[in-house]
Amino acid sequence: MISFHQVNKHYGSFHVLKNINLHINQGEVVVVIGPSGSGKSTMVRCINRLETVTSGELVVDGVKVNDKNTDINKLRRDIGMVFQHFNLYPHKTVLQNITLAPTKVLGVSQKEAEETALYYLEKVGIPEKAEMLPTQLSGGQQQRVAIARGLAMRPKIMLFDEPTSALDPETIGEVLDVMKKLAKEGMTMVVVTHEMGFAREVADRIVFMDQGTILEDSTPEEFFASPREERARLFLSRIL
Ligand code: ATP
Ligand code: MG
Repeated sequence: MISFHQVNKHYGSFHVLKNINLHINQGEVVVVIGPSGSGKSTMVRCINRLETVTSGELVVDGVKVNDKNTDINKLRRDIGMVFQHFNLYPHKTVLQNITLAPTKVLGVSQKEAEETALYYLEKVGIPEKAEMLPTQLSGGQQQRVAIARGLAMRPKIMLFDEPTSALDPETIGEVLDVMKKLAKEGMTMVVVTHEMGFAREVADRIVFMDQGTILEDSTPEEFFASPREERARLFLSRIL
């Protein structure tokens, strides 16, 4: 579903991603961890070409992401992304936030888009918030709206970049629960997170990055029992 072959990326002279090889199958949940600045966000953002790679090949759902003939908007419609900051439109209601892209981009009727929006609001556990503004919701609720908004496009892949990092400890769990449910339903997910409980329980694989390289790519069982790399061990000892 997602394949990095010998991918490199530079920001000017700075070599941020170094020979990345990573293959993610349909339905897999891959959790990406690693120290700040190791390139996690950059790697994830390459998948929907929010960042372009400098060399190597990146194939997503059979499409070469960096090929000049690739219809990037079409590819992006199949990839939902949830960030640390929810990026909801502040002056639109929850329902409007979720129906906007399906009506504008997919050409779905307003009525159908609203039905779909309500379906996903139900799924993330806040159907009663449909007519509220984002500012009237808690952080965890806003993030669940952001997830519902992503799902309303019926993507094949969901990318999450530290979706709970800006949340109060009490509301982190409600967002992780939604993600857990999504994983169980077979969504292909790439998740950057520091939530090791989630990683251990939900991930099919843990990818550990350090200084632009993937140092480990293993199952949670292997990784948490005994990381092969000293740097991974050090990282775990600091955050666990
Ligand atoms: P964090 O855990 O802090 O979010 P990260 O692992 O997601 O870190 P990235 O955001 O991918 O790391 O950044 C990797 C490196 O690339 C960092 O050293 C960062 O300063 C650098 N970098 C990121 N974006 C740019 C940019 N637009 N221009 C130049 N350098 C950048
Ligand atoms: Mg980051």
